[in-house]
Amino acid sequence: MTTIREFHKKSIDNPDAFWGEEAKLVDWHKPFSQVLDFSRPPFAKWFVGGETNLCYNAVDRHAEKRPNDRALVFISTETDQEVVYTFAELKAEVMRMAAIMQNLGVSKGDRVLLYMPMVAEAAFAMLACARIGAIHSVVFGGFASGSLATRIDDAEPVLIVSSDAGMRGGKAVPYKGLLDEAISLAEKKPAKVLMIDRGIDKGFNKVAGRDVDYASERAKVMDADVPVTWLESSDPSYILYTSGTTGKPKGVQRDTGGYAVALTSSIKHIFCGEAGETFFATSDIGWVVGHSYIVYGPLLAGMATIMYEGTPLRPDPGIWWQIVEKYKVSVMFSAPTAARVLKKHDTAYMHKYDLSSLRHLFLAGEPLDQPTHEWLMGELGLPVIDNYWQTETGWPMLSAMPGVEKTEIRFGTPSFPVYGYNLKIFREDGTICDPDEKGIVGILPPLPPGCLSTVWGDDDRFVSTYFTLFNEPQVYSSFDWGIADKDGYHYILGRTDDVINVAGHRLGTREIEEAIQGHAAIAEVAVVGVADKLKGQMPMAFAVVKNADSIATPELAAALEKEVMKKVDSSLGAIARPSHVHFISVLPKTRSGKLLRRTIQALAEGRDPGDLTTIEDPKALEQLQKALSAAQ
Ligand code: ATP
Ligand code: MG
Repeated sequence: MTTIREFHKKSIDNPDAFWGEEAKLVDWHKPFSQVLDFSRPPFAKWFVGGETNLCYNAVDRHAEKRPNDRALVFISTETDQEVVYTFAELKAEVMRMAAIMQNLGVSKGDRVLLYMPMVAEAAFAMLACARIGAIHSVVFGGFASGSLATRIDDAEPVLIVSSDAGMRGGKAVPYKGLLDEAISLAEKKPAKVLMIDRGIDKGFNKVAGRDVDYASERAKVMDADVPVTWLESSDPSYILYTSGTTGKPKGVQRDTGGYAVALTSSIKHIFCGEAGETFFATSDIGWVVGHSYIVYGPLLAGMATIMYEGTPLRPDPGIWWQIVEKYKVSVMFSAPTAARVLKKHDTAYMHKYDLSSLRHLFLAGEPLDQPTHEWLMGELGLPVIDNYWQTETGWPMLSAMPGVEKTEIRFGTPSFPVYGYNLKIFREDGTICDPDEKGIVGILPPLPPGCLSTVWGDDDRFVSTYFTLFNEPQVYSSFDWGIADKDGYHYILGRTDDVINVAGHRLGTREIEEAIQGHAAIAEVAVVGVADKLKGQMPMAFAVVKNADSIATPELAAALEKEVMKKVDSSLGAIARPSHVHFISVLPKTRSGKLLRRTIQALAEGRDPGDLTTIEDPKALEQLQKALSAAQ
């Protein structure tokens, strides 16, 4: 059996042979003449001259062979809907959507912006764009009008597909007002808006001549037969903006052929999914995980995919496991933040269901702390695999790869560099770190297939943002700190702008958070560096307790704060001890579940937190401010 090491080495030493082989997982309308064109570094073109289509590979080729197999399962615990689409039905719906788009004037290369809840029509629209060569740009449904407007101006869509409302935790989140406001703010206004009316927001505003109703358009094209538009491998498939955790989001541009190959290959070697099985990613289509592992990845590999609208807790915290049992899910993908939410609830909800179909659970998006990792793996009794990647890369950069070799799962590490990624840990002078030495996670180009081909409309920004870490060598910077141990296991220590400098000692926020998370009473914690006259910076912690009883009185809270500080002293030394541990009930996060450390830090330092449009729950800020002023 090939080891991960050998597999990886082959991919780096001879990318042409390696990726030429992987490319066979995809159907090509016209074969490529060259695997890689890297004549203009750092721009990499994969499968040059080849013609293919993402929708054809994700839908048509399976609909031909297995028309009646499940393809897409839409489950909403918000509206109590459950609809199963076979590959044949999915193909029919995608062709209808494609016909509607064509009737509204969309053609190859045009942008279509999606501002949608997690409904099946969102997947139809993404696949319909892929089918006709239009470039989709999905913006997380419910984003504030300001952020939506900047994305409209950047992508210049001819059409926006939207819906009256999303639903979250039983409450309607009306979209149309936000969308109308965004369009009025935007300079590049779309000609048409296609509205999927879910009947949630009954009185939404309709703009005559611009807004078009999906149901009535669909009724006109029930027999639509829209042929696939073949695209050159490097033709863009979509634009997706990064999460905006560290500032202005960047418009990541993805190609067609490279993405198809990378995703299909990842389902085989990393996720161990097989055609005919079911993949359940709990993300949202507004994020990269939703693009790669709700919509494209599973379908490309002929798997059924679950599109779930709802929270992990309603109607009860067993809902995900109920879905796993019912649809015999074999691969599941979620985020550490969701795992920590479930950790606060009774594990009986998990054990109530037959989870024997499930082989692996993958988690990505932010650091997976050791206690949560250990807890989840113990409870589920199966490998829980941390994987590390970014919107930019489109698929995992660091992961265990059970489809290649079953390696030991260690807690707190996303394991090894994935094949195709010449990933190293770099010192600040551009040399490569020794084992156990902390540095910046970088990739020696070419970036493998599937990664961003450029920043939308801005090649210069692509180079200057990602490839100017050193003069020599040219390296893709991830903006994350990491470390690799002697055995090749990699640890992510936090973002490069998340380091705290205490009296000349550089501490990763992640290390301190990990130590605090080790305390039995703590469910979740954020640590930020706060300016300090004496020491330069001091760590400050904001913690959520598992059980409110542990901080029921000021005395109890003070005692717990001391214990937490002691815990940090014993794991990292007194230098890392937070100046304060504030207890709050919710941490400010982006809607994709990432901690907004920059925002917390600004508030703790009494500064203006700036752009807050990506925040999930504005109440978190009020709490934070209260805790801070109470401590003064
Ligand atoms: P922006 O780039 O706009 O500031 P963002 O970096 O949060 O936003 P994403 O691309 O969604 O946008 O997130 C990628 C980042 O998430 C990584 O660079 C890393 O900091 C973090 N991350 C993802 N997976 C992991 C993981 N398994 N362990 C630790 N950190 C992770
Ligand atoms: Mg980023």
